[in-house]
Amino acid sequence: MKINKKSFAPFLVSGVWCLVSLLFMAQAPIRTTVDLPAKLESVPTMRVAIIQNVEAAHLDFSSPYTVTHPVTGDLLAQGLPQKDVLLNVSLDGIVLGGRLLRSSVIRVKTEDKMIQIEGRTYRADLRIQKNSRGKLMLINEISMEDYLKGVLPWEVDYKWQMEALKAQAIAARTFALFQALKNPSAPFFLTSDVKSQVYGGKTSEHLRTSEAVDATRGQVLTYRGQVFQGYFHSSCGGRTTRADFVWSVVPIAPLMGVQCGFCAGSKYDNWTAEFTFDEIRKKLIDHGYSVGPITGIESVDRDRTGRIRKVLIYHSGGVTKMNAGDFRVFIGADKMRSTQVAFHTAPGKILMTGKGWGHGVGLCQWGAKVMAERGFTFENILRFYYPGAQVTQAYSAPQPEPSEGGLFSGIIGKIKEVFGG
Ligand SMILES: [Zn+2]
Repeated sequence: MKINKKSFAPFLVSGVWCLVSLLFMAQAPIRTTVDLPAKLESVPTMRVAIIQNVEAAHLDFSSPYTVTHPVTGDLLAQGLPQKDVLLNVSLDGIVLGGRLLRSSVIRVKTEDKMIQIEGRTYRADLRIQKNSRGKLMLINEISMEDYLKGVLPWEVDYKWQMEALKAQAIAARTFALFQALKNPSAPFFLTSDVKSQVYGGKTSEHLRTSEAVDATRGQVLTYRGQVFQGYFHSSCGGRTTRADFVWSVVPIAPLMGVQCGFCAGSKYDNWTAEFTFDEIRKKLIDHGYSVGPITGIESVDRDRTGRIRKVLIYHSGGVTKMNAGDFRVFIGADKMRSTQVAFHTAPGKILMTGKGWGHGVGLCQWGAKVMAERGFTFENILRFYYPGAQVTQAYSAPQPEPSEGGLFSGIIGKIKEVFGG
């Protein structure tokens, strides 16, 4: 998968809305906090899935490379700089540049610590693993700090005030650390697309956003000593909402919503969209719903922030009720920008008028931009959008090499409260 920057407007993708459908499959509310280890060692290594479920991919090595087994450390292959190296899968293992490596998982390291995958440059190492379906996963193993430098330019405009960029860096670091701590043995913690937060590798980096990452190095948000799911979104349209109004998750004070107001009048404050019933039916069928020709669509159950929670689809086979956030994702979250929406049906189609962009939980990026312009610091911004949260120094060691073994190995960092709550 190549990321075409033109297909993603930066800072509109606001990470986490795609979790909606996954979360709603679960019965019990999903936790939004995880303990921050008392001795979080070194800079955490993130595992980010760049490409999944493919039989082949193209790599470029601009310096000599080695291939090892990630568990045993055995050297499996090595080579000189080479362009357009074909990676593919075989029944017996993984084939790199025509050479069969009899292992279902390998780690590729290069001397200059850069690897090109389908034309994009990524820092640090590449883990290649066969999945249960016999297809390949390409996973970038990268330090948290370098990872964030490839994320921020997608989430915010590098021209924004530095305090807004710093607030975003801490929110994104919190989001990523939560994912890593929640399931440390997973083959990967994050994807590189909107299912997590968009990550474009070194190719995406910008000096100012990288400066914001460096300036906040190791700082994450905590609530009562725990790292929490640091949701953020593009624009709230007036008021942010409660996490448990949107997903089946455990609500905590920092994710209960606030009166924003700062994003009022921003570029994405108001929007309109139009969908034909046929278009919506096709999208719902693509997502596994059995829906006949649609005769009407209605919104029900509006929360106190003005967001709808359920949608009723009237069709030839009956009435289908679904979560409004799911509905939005299924029909196109870049077009139906939020659930703060009014439906106006017309023959064969629906017109929508709405406010804000994104799920509306946690930090409002356009609100943060305006707060920074008015002189608020990144701490002010984060405490405003995540009430009761603290900025905590989770690690502060100098930049080491990305760790070889576990998630957190190397120099032991000290957990230190930067300021009290
Ligand atoms: Zn807002």
